[in-house]
Amino acid sequence: MSLHKIAVIGGDGIGPEVVEAGVEVLEALAAVEPGLAFDFKRFDWGSDYYRRNGRMMPQDGLEQIKGFDAIYFGSVGDPNLPDDVTLWGLRLAICQGFDQYANVRPTRLLPGLTGPLRPDLGKQIDWVIVRENSEGEYAGVGGRAHRGLPIEVGIDVAVFTRAGIERIARFACELALSRPRKLLTVVTKSNAQRHGMVLWDEVVRGVLRDYPGLSVDWMLVDAMTQRMVNKPGSIDTVLATNLHADILSDLAAALGGSLGIGSTSNIDPSRSRPSMFEPIHGSAFDITGKGVANPLGSFWTASLMLEHLGEQAAARRLMVAIELVTDRAEYLSPDLGGAASTAEVTSAVIAAVSGVNSPSS
Ligand code: NAD
Ligand code: MN
Repeated sequence: MSLHKIAVIGGDGIGPEVVEAGVEVLEALAAVEPGLAFDFKRFDWGSDYYRRNGRMMPQDGLEQIKGFDAIYFGSVGDPNLPDDVTLWGLRLAICQGFDQYANVRPTRLLPGLTGPLRPDLGKQIDWVIVRENSEGEYAGVGGRAHRGLPIEVGIDVAVFTRAGIERIARFACELALSRPRKLLTVVTKSNAQRHGMVLWDEVVRGVLRDYPGLSVDWMLVDAMTQRMVNKPGSIDTVLATNLHADILSDLAAALGGSLGIGSTSNIDPSRSRPSMFEPIHGSAFDITGKGVANPLGSFWTASLMLEHLGEQAAARRLMVAIELVTDRAEYLSPDLGGAASTAEVTSAVIAAVSGVNSPSS
């Protein structure tokens, strides 16, 4: 019997809608998967909390959640608050505070979905993007001076450290090695960024020496975008910096059918602190409260969380259920060209979870 303590942070916009749908699905899984059980605790942190308390989460927020086995997260962002305040006050505060330095984003074109690529190309998409999640372009180092004057300046410094590059490179190599193709593409921009990105290349090259079993190729980030579109089958595991992988993974999500499906884990590979699992989309103000948000991203995310918790059978059962549902046009939400509501997609996945036997591996 394994009881998993999950901190649930719905956050803003459609975040709480898709996360609550995910909790329902996880409860349904627990009902059919022997020994699986969850203890969910909700935290009402986010922009409404900010309006009441002047901060996105309590001062001791990290203390409150550090004893959980995982964090199940929705999204942050509010039309009436600056994005840098909401993002840094909650999501990045957790990622950086818990040193969740590996951000992992799988993409596949799920059955029944078409996506914008030609069908023969779209079917080839089976990628995992590993994003450096603790430094690089989002280190938060920099400043503003001469505010309001014509000579005003704003500076963001990209921070690349040997230790930071080495640990994410190792993580990506291990992940690539665990996948059938053992194929890693390292993304860089060392032709134009002559310092940090050159160090990135050097340190990654050093780590690669320890992984002779991997096939490795290198891409400049701009060229990588066209390879993803034109030759998706030539890609498997991708290692990229914080900014580059942020952009590439939204492209990946779009090629995979919809931003509403993409899922992410923010992992502390040392497992000394909880890792965080979230759909890749944001608050989606345009559809908040309408009951039409696609919850599949948060379900796929829940499957990643189950894998991380060591619940491989439950993770597979959930993924199979998601794929049964995407294969049925009547269960597609509007972002996928259908008419199903969040609740309808959720009930369909719950029915599939409860009906499908866990496939053997
Ligand atoms: P967004 O992902 O919120 O929305 C982009 C478009 O995709 C919108 O048209 C939206 O309706 C659609 N969409 C997104 N998720 C969907 C879903 N599950 N089902 C159906 N349609 C979906 O991105 P944005 O508009 O750039 O950002 C809105 C806010 O969210 C901003 O404040 C931004 O900072 C924040 N944001 C937060 C995160 C996060 O918390 N990790 C990520 C991205 C954006
Ligand atoms: Mn992003």
